[in-house]
Amino acid sequence: MFYRDSRLFEEDDFKLKVGFFHFSSCSGCQVAFLDMFEEAVEILDTVELAYSNMLTKRKEVPHLDVAFVEGAVCIEDRNHARLVRELSEKAKLIVAVGGCASFGGVRRFSRGNQFPQPTHQSFVPITEVELLRGKIKYAIPGCPPNPSLLYSFFLALLEVNEDFLTPFEFMAHSHNACGFDLISEVVNKGFCVGCGTCSTACPARAISTDLESGKPNFTPEICVHCGSCLAACPQSFKPYPQPTYT
Ligand code: SF4
Ligand code: SF4
Ligand code: SF4
Repeated sequence: MFYRDSRLFEEDDFKLKVGFFHFSSCSGCQVAFLDMFEEAVEILDTVELAYSNMLTKRKEVPHLDVAFVEGAVCIEDRNHARLVRELSEKAKLIVAVGGCASFGGVRRFSRGNQFPQPTHQSFVPITEVELLRGKIKYAIPGCPPNPSLLYSFFLALLEVNEDFLTPFEFMAHSHNACGFDLISEVVNKGFCVGCGTCSTACPARAISTDLESGKPNFTPEICVHCGSCLAACPQSFKPYPQPTYT
């Protein structure tokens, strides 16, 4: 049983009206969402799927409580510009799903794919689109995000589990999202316990574990900037201890 967030639910029998949107992407994040629904039957009576380019025939964008968005925005695509405007007007809250929507991902960083701007192949993640900035509260890392993570995020959103949601809020404002985050946020601060979770979370195999020190090695050339490593690390998002000056 979920308690209802007054920011999203205005009436007792109100269903959370959600939509799934697609900019330039491989659709892997939407497929991960579909995988999630296999284990998410229990939340279907709490949620109304009002828009999906894969699952609904609806063409116009309805007013929504939450819009889940995958992919990066092409700065010269008129259809993308129109969809950005519609989302800015019709979605109460936007969640960036996956590395492309959150940080640019392979659309922005893969070698040989990014042409000098302006061209038709110049992309920005939705977290950096000015018109959407006030609406985007959360970014879910991954390429694609694990379906179990998507399910847990959905539950946390419905239950207003702020502790669980806070790292996703942090990720919405993180523009780097690469393996260097681990070095600066975890290893350099002395938090790394050598568990190896970051290397298993990396879809590009850009992180390996140094067998002597147990610490991560990072190969930036093959990082696709998905943000999974920092999000998966059990030692990340900790406050940095400060010296005592007494
Ligand atoms: S984040 Fe990865 S899986 Fe998701 S749309 Fe981009 S390339 Fe595809
Ligand atoms: S997941 Fe975090 S704690 Fe574990 S090895 Fe990687 S950086 Fe260290
Ligand atoms: S190092 Fe791997 S997990 Fe971390 S951001 Fe790069 S591709 Fe993603």
